[in-house]
Amino acid sequence: MYALPILKPHRAPRVDPRSARVSLTDLCDLACIYCRPHKRDGYLERRLGLEAWRSMLRGLFEAGVRRLRVTGGEPLLHPQVVAFVRAVREIPFEDVALTTNATRLEALAAPLRDAGLMRLNVSVDTLDPARFFRMTRGGRLAAVLRGVDAATRAGFDELKLNVVVVRGENDHELEDLVRFAWDRGMIPRFLEVMPIGEGQNLRDRVVPYGEMRARIAHLLEEAPPVKDPDRGPAKYTPARADGPDAGKRVGFITGTSDTFCGGCDRLRVASDGHLRPCLATNDGLSARHEAEHEDSAAVAERVHEAWKQKPDGDTWKGCTEATARDVSIRKIGG
Ligand code: SAM
Repeated sequence: MYALPILKPHRAPRVDPRSARVSLTDLCDLACIYCRPHKRDGYLERRLGLEAWRSMLRGLFEAGVRRLRVTGGEPLLHPQVVAFVRAVREIPFEDVALTTNATRLEALAAPLRDAGLMRLNVSVDTLDPARFFRMTRGGRLAAVLRGVDAATRAGFDELKLNVVVVRGENDHELEDLVRFAWDRGMIPRFLEVMPIGEGQNLRDRVVPYGEMRARIAHLLEEAPPVKDPDRGPAKYTPARADGPDAGKRVGFITGTSDTFCGGCDRLRVASDGHLRPCLATNDGLSARHEAEHEDSAAVAERVHEAWKQKPDGDTWKGCTEATARDVSIRKIGG
């Protein structure tokens, strides 16, 4: 008898950058306790203008990017955010989404939808105005909730509610936040605090996935959570099939207890044109010159060069790597 050859597992081929998170501005009107120390922690001196952005967007598409998320900083602080979304939709990206803190969403939800924005994520960590004020260092919850209402009326293809869970702050609010989201047709998602930038100071206040899930277990099926194909790192668990919320679901993003680098196809573009292949390091290179000279082919070349710096997802442990401490999510596009 022949001995069967030992088959080595195939190393997955290196993925191309299929999705990009584009930081329209590094400006933000909040200072969330896990994101930045205060509102005077320094802004970029020079940002891309709309024409340079058009070249950047074309270059991303030419380099293979098909899904785009507009983020920041706070993207709705940019005076041309609606025109920017229109410019994005002139290019045949398959998916165009935006992440916002919703402080300006009341006036902008409908114009953004009209400009062609497909999906929207809103970050709201608590439904308690005093806690919201504390967690955001000065934010007003009422305006944010009016923004959420406007978004639900605007008819986006999908609305998500992102909640960063901080022990001793909002960790007892999970069920209320799930019900708030489900009542409005939104998908609630709970994020572990990642030890990036300011988040490293909250290492002892991370609420791990297992604990988050246990707090709302009575609302959910027992099955293990699953990822949506071709989307980000979130894993989803369906609501109980025998209850009134059947068909709804809850997402978890476990950037600390379970890093998720294998298969990451995400590139980040900062508002000054800097390209970063990974959230957890400041490695990368600039494509500002190429974008400002409206040379999309040269931008695509820079994307490929930046992508060579992508850490090996089989060994790299994302936000738990030491390099993550020096990263500002606000500056590079969260
Ligand atoms: N201003 C927008 C917003 O608030 O959604 C977009 C930018 S913000 C940096 C993007 C997301 O990053 C938000 O959902 C925020 O809560 C999350 N975030 C920032 N720092 C984080 C950290 N240390 N751990 C986990 N999530 C974090």
